[in-house]
Amino acid sequence: MNAAVPLPAQIRPPFTDEQPGGSPAEPASVLLPGHDVPLGRYTTVRRLLPHRRRRMVGAWCFVDHFGPDDVADRPGMRVPPHPHIGLQTVTWLVAGEILHRDSLGNSQSIRPGQLNVMTSGRGIAHSENSPPEHPPSMHGVQLWIALPESARHGAPDFRHHAEIPTARLGDLTVDVLVGSLAGARSPAVVHSPLLGTQLTGPEGAAGSLPLDPAYEHGVLAMSGTARVGDADLAPGSLLYLEAGRTELAVTAGPDCRLLLLGGEPFADPLVMWWNFVGRTHEDIVEAREDWAAGRRYGTVFDDPTPVLAAPPMPTTRLKARDRNGVTSG
Ligand code: MN
Repeated sequence: MNAAVPLPAQIRPPFTDEQPGGSPAEPASVLLPGHDVPLGRYTTVRRLLPHRRRRMVGAWCFVDHFGPDDVADRPGMRVPPHPHIGLQTVTWLVAGEILHRDSLGNSQSIRPGQLNVMTSGRGIAHSENSPPEHPPSMHGVQLWIALPESARHGAPDFRHHAEIPTARLGDLTVDVLVGSLAGARSPAVVHSPLLGTQLTGPEGAAGSLPLDPAYEHGVLAMSGTARVGDADLAPGSLLYLEAGRTELAVTAGPDCRLLLLGGEPFADPLVMWWNFVGRTHEDIVEAREDWAAGRRYGTVFDDPTPVLAAPPMPTTRLKARDRNGVTSG
């Protein structure tokens, strides 16, 4: 499991100078702009994590928001077979359909309101594609969770959750993807204290979310706008909230759909490179060599598409970075 969680008062991220006018006693918050990244040949995603100044929120180490995209006359998502180590992937759709196939033999379509959780453990390969006949719009998120040391060498696993629990908070609807909130608990298995929820409500809907003060949090708008704490939120940025909060006031603007992520600050510095999450340069070299040699990951079921080749290793050693982006080793 993770090492001890620092007390909120001891958390002093390097960006406290950007705290927007709050009192020194108030846990810091900061709005982190995302950036666009091509994913496969046909999809561009908005990447919110990792950010230069904020690598993680709890064990959440990768946040990609895609769409809403008009894919009526386009292939949609095309991501050929590729490997992962050291992480879980969490896929959540608002619109569209994606077919997941993996090296455990799973072939599973995911549709809006459903949740896919893939655990790489020490190695898995998968592909993700819009089926040939797909809905005209695609909108969703793909998230990575870093596995703690105790789980990162374990067996791979894949779970599809056709339904996930929902709670009400004030006028807001809360879909609980990971962890628990407002009495609803997700069936998804994760390996560190973690929260992932979607919040929706009509314009003007308001609620106060009870937060675990041991957790840091991140909020992004998937659509519409919202007032979240002291910040106005719209798609394209992640609102990072330092640990130490016990509640968060949310008021929905038009078309509001938020994703709230949280977790205990992750202790281990990580090396993240391509589709791999490790602890050392050597972890990554070995994972890459095994993929090139056809070892470790197996073959993605029923997908004849040529696999993705890993890019060449950089000429310098990969360095581990902690959650604040500080390098070590
Ligand atoms: Mn993947």
